[in-house]
Amino acid sequence: MDHLSKEARSALIAKIKAKDTKPELIIRKMIWRSGFRYRLYDKKLPRTPDIVFRSKKKVILVNGCFWHGHICCKNQLPKTRTEFWNQKISKNMMRDFNNLNRPHALGWSTLVLWECEVRNSLIWERVLKFLTS
Ligand SMILES: [Zn+2]
Repeated sequence: MDHLSKEARSALIAKIKAKDTKPELIIRKMIWRSGFRYRLYDKKLPRTPDIVFRSKKKVILVNGCFWHGHICCKNQLPKTRTEFWNQKISKNMMRDFNNLNRPHALGWSTLVLWECEVRNSLIWERVLKFLTS
């Protein structure tokens, strides 16, 4: 059941879409505390990646589950205008797919993290491995 009003739903979605999303902030904080330094939203790279390590030629993307169509408990389409959301998210997924390999072509590596993984303690091992390998 969709218990949110149209207005509340729009407000919620506007919040999700904004930069500096909460999952991303959590990841950035962890990375910063461990002494790694990065840039944000580097427009010189395809898709202006979220977290960029120029000297390492590495980028970390933090994907919102809803917007990027992750198959997990957090990803539930609104019950109204389902077809609209379906198409919108399919488009995002297609764009992700096309963009994911572009940094590779320039010699960069990409690590994709999902919003729903951020609170999992194992995520930090993956981030460390990615940044130090
Ligand atoms: Zn997810």
